[in-house]
Amino acid sequence: MQFSRRTILGAGLATLSGSLLNSMSSAQVRNALGNKPPKNVIFCVADGMASQTMSMCDVFQRTGLGHPSYWAGLMNEPYVVNGLQATRSLSSVVTDSAAASAAWGSGVHIWNGQLNILPDGTELDSLTKLASAKGVRCGLVTTTTMSHATPAGFAVVTDSRGKEREISAKYLDAGVDVLMGGGDAFFTPDDLYSKYAANGYRVVKNRSEALAATGQKILGIFDSSHLPFTIDRNNSTEIAAKVPTLAEMASVALRSLKGSPNGFLLQIEGGKVDHGAHANDLAAMFYDQIAFEEAVKVAVEFALADGETLVIITSDHACGGPSLNGDGDEYFDTTAALEGFANFKCSFAPLMSLMGSRPTTDHVVDVHKEMMGIELSKEEAETVVAIMGNNSPFKASTLMGSRNAGLALIHGNHTKVGWTSGNHTHEHVLVTAVGPGSHLVAGLTQNIRFFDLMTGVFDITHKNPTMSFEDAMRVRARASVQVESEPHWV
Ligand SMILES: [Zn+2]
Repeated sequence: MQFSRRTILGAGLATLSGSLLNSMSSAQVRNALGNKPPKNVIFCVADGMASQTMSMCDVFQRTGLGHPSYWAGLMNEPYVVNGLQATRSLSSVVTDSAAASAAWGSGVHIWNGQLNILPDGTELDSLTKLASAKGVRCGLVTTTTMSHATPAGFAVVTDSRGKEREISAKYLDAGVDVLMGGGDAFFTPDDLYSKYAANGYRVVKNRSEALAATGQKILGIFDSSHLPFTIDRNNSTEIAAKVPTLAEMASVALRSLKGSPNGFLLQIEGGKVDHGAHANDLAAMFYDQIAFEEAVKVAVEFALADGETLVIITSDHACGGPSLNGDGDEYFDTTAALEGFANFKCSFAPLMSLMGSRPTTDHVVDVHKEMMGIELSKEEAETVVAIMGNNSPFKASTLMGSRNAGLALIHGNHTKVGWTSGNHTHEHVLVTAVGPGSHLVAGLTQNIRFFDLMTGVFDITHKNPTMSFEDAMRVRARASVQVESEPHWV
């Protein structure tokens, strides 16, 4: 039997039954929320988080750091609802972050790389635009550039996620009150700070200014590009003074948004979990997952005290295919490896910088011992030397041929963690919900249905137009559409 893209995408829809949300309109969701619907929504996204990322991080924290993962602990609480989310986009069974977030932001499957627009150019009404028109105050906080795909997917309409200067400006008209993240490089060229200030935003550019920021409208930008990985922030007083944590940004946003008479919507994105996974960089991914879960804790504690807030904790897609493997007699070596993760002192970028492109084997051994607590064998060190010289023995692999992937394969001898690629992967992702309305996400929910949940909470009845995969292919063939693309979808 032959499978076309059409049958695969169609089957993806047909086989989804799952949660109550899958068959409900916004109006039906409103009814299902009962007499005391939530007033506020906090939507927490660990970008690119595979379920293994969360479970590995849980056991890592238990064995290496001496305490459990906050999210794993939360999943066991009697007041939460757990489920799964299906993440396909309009163009593929593997989504990028733009199509994924815009699925939540528009209720419609979107072509990878685009935001709240159909392939024929039909512009859709975004979630923050619809919510702000009802008096709902909106916030977006992220560890990526402010203009990156996941925050933008709730708010902005554009045919290419790569237009980050344009996206940075578009928030002004998208009904977003609080914005915090990175991406100064996309605000400075068009003097957007002056425009935001003229529109009533308090502009802050470092951690102490952010922590002191009050008022209804806040724009906080803390790096020229994405915010640094948490593991590198943890080991740099300079970065820690400049850049707030995601939990701190979430607290500042909640302080500004709470008490809104018509409720609020806040997206909190741990965007660098995805970046760590793309790079097959275990240390970077783990510590940003921990930072994300600290922000989730802020959101959940707010909701439990408030009683009128629905918190959704999920991911937009998985990335990298990380997996903790059994190794050694009775798999005993795996547990020991987990304890060793606590010795990691930096992400891959500083590690590679310390090694340089033409290191000696002795230098490679020394750097790994100091920065990762890993004792490389002579053969492993020789392989790392080849990898750093862009002569990876794995370079014939289309999915694992990169320098990062090569390093991760060698590290896997010690960490017991393997990867399948540096790209996004197709798997259902975790969903945990807290607060009124959480019962609606039990089971398997399509990503687009979270739009109906959120619009239902805010009593918005809206349906954006849709397009089939076949129609989208015809439109794109006629127009010879070339969407700006990055080397791999991120
Ligand atoms: Zn990604």
